[in-house]
Amino acid sequence: MTDDKECTECGDYVAVLRWRLGYKTCLHCGEKEAKKVRHTVAPMPKSNYILITDLSLLKGLNSSHKGGVGLSL
Ligand SMILES: [Zn+2]
Repeated sequence: MTDDKECTECGDYVAVLRWRLGYKTCLHCGEKEAKKVRHTVAPMPKSNYILITDLSLLKGLNSSHKGGVGLSL
């Protein structure tokens, strides 16, 4: 009786807890996805990742454009 699931990417082992959270991939593939897809709009606990990447993205925009673009009303 195994509750273990298989990663949809590489067929590797996925912890059942992870699976229940909505992940269908193993840790490695999950991280790869998180890095590859910067603007994942998924209602998942993954939003931690998204928030961080968005913030750093915003910071990058601000510093390179001196905060002017898109903020003038
Ligand atoms: Zn995998």
